[in-house]
Amino acid sequence: MKHIMRCIKCSQYTMQEVHCGEKTVNPKPPKYSPEDKYGEYRRKAKGIS
Ligand SMILES: [Zn+2]
Repeated sequence: MKHIMRCIKCSQYTMQEVHCGEKTVNPKPPKYSPEDKYGEYRRKAKGIS
């Protein structure tokens, strides 16, 4: 089973390992960090107020 990949050049999702002459990347973030989520929430809250 192949993973869905993303082209860094045209931003299209593809199952190819190479697209537009560039190696595609995994569209998901390398790792999930709860701290980042809270940081984003804090930034948003700050922006609203
Ligand atoms: Zn492409």
